[in-house]
Amino acid sequence: MKDFIFSSPTKIIFGKGTEEQVGKEVKNYSNKVLLCYGGGSIKKYGLYDKVVKALKEEGVEFVELSGVKPNPRLGLVQEGIKLVRENNINFILAVGGGSVIDTAKAIAMGVPYEGNVWDFFEGKAELKEALPVGVILTIPATGSEASDATVITNEDGWYKIGFHHELLRPKFAIMNPELTYTLPPYQTACGVADIMAHIMERYFVNEEGVELTDRLCEATLKTVINNARIVLKDPANYNARAQIMWAGTIAHNDLLNTGRGRGDWASHRIEHELSAIYDIAHGAGLAIVFPAWMKYVYKNNINRFVQFAVKVWDVDLPYENLEEIALEGIRRTEEFFKEIGLPVRLKEAGISDDRFEEMADKCTKGGTRTIGDFVKLNKEDIIKIYELAR
Ligand code: NAP
Ligand code: FE
Repeated sequence: MKDFIFSSPTKIIFGKGTEEQVGKEVKNYSNKVLLCYGGGSIKKYGLYDKVVKALKEEGVEFVELSGVKPNPRLGLVQEGIKLVRENNINFILAVGGGSVIDTAKAIAMGVPYEGNVWDFFEGKAELKEALPVGVILTIPATGSEASDATVITNEDGWYKIGFHHELLRPKFAIMNPELTYTLPPYQTACGVADIMAHIMERYFVNEEGVELTDRLCEATLKTVINNARIVLKDPANYNARAQIMWAGTIAHNDLLNTGRGRGDWASHRIEHELSAIYDIAHGAGLAIVFPAWMKYVYKNNINRFVQFAVKVWDVDLPYENLEEIALEGIRRTEEFFKEIGLPVRLKEAGISDDRFEEMADKCTKGGTRTIGDFVKLNKEDIIKIYELAR
């Protein structure tokens, strides 16, 4: 087991009606905030009115930045930075999903920095300070409510890049599972795939002596799988929604990779190229990429894939060799994504094979770096993974 530092400072306020506490939580930091949200679901389902009421009750002023799109764009981040500076705001409240939270985090980074906030994503600047961010979460998926990451798309060239830093962990995350009842089944499924991917990125390591986190990963995966099946039949099942929501947070707050390194993350990088160019949902992209990645790398450490098949998918068939067990685990992963309504091939998402080279090039910075840790992948490997996902 490796040495580690674990810090998850985000205060989690979990349960029914917790959004009513937002005014009090914000007030601990500021009397004037930027209220950041997406394309309107929070207005449609009444959350916006509740938030405004809670802020007003505590005398907290707010300026709004709405219209955050899935696969959030740099342009809106720049707009938000300007708005915050002009209005002397020093706290950002994100109400929504990962796209809204990531936009809020990027604004928080950009305000105290004199240069272009994109510098951080390109590794050209070091983050020294960021404004505090608070969250009301409406979709369990990215774990951004407690993660150190933000992922932004630069429209100039369609580069989707993640940046992470401890300063980006939100101060609080308000999580009411009831707020997720209104999610369309497809968005629920995309969220489930992202949560599973965050765990699997951490699970597939070559590290020995990581029994505790192996078991935690397997249990969290099984919980998400079981409860996804429940909520897709019964969207207002509080307990199942709650199980998924909390799993989404611990899948990405770094608890599950304690003592085992940061993880692999090749599938995420390969996926980001897809959602950058084709604007598909991140979770759907992962449902396509992850099984292909698995098929490409499993021989590198077959025992780990056997363990995954047995512990997560209960593969207990009397197969004669380990390879068949490993492949059955991969097959069941793919079948599950299909079962919950996600695409598992690029063509099912309307993506043709004419830009594999370009995406692999971007992913490896023009072939100058490898990605992944379980297996280090170069540009040619990445093209082969896109081909497997065709
Ligand atoms: P999202 O892009 O924030 O939201 C997806 C859609 O769901 C939006 O159309 C949104 O509508 C809708 N929605 C959200 N909550 C809803 C609700 N309660 N009821 C009905 N509709 C609702 O989804 P996401 O999966 O959370 O975020 C994806 C982004 O995060 C991607 O860019 C991905 O790459 C990134 N990501 C970040 C991290 C991280 O650690 N920072 C990790 C993984 C992925 P409205 O816009 O109308 O609200
Ligand atoms: Fe993700």
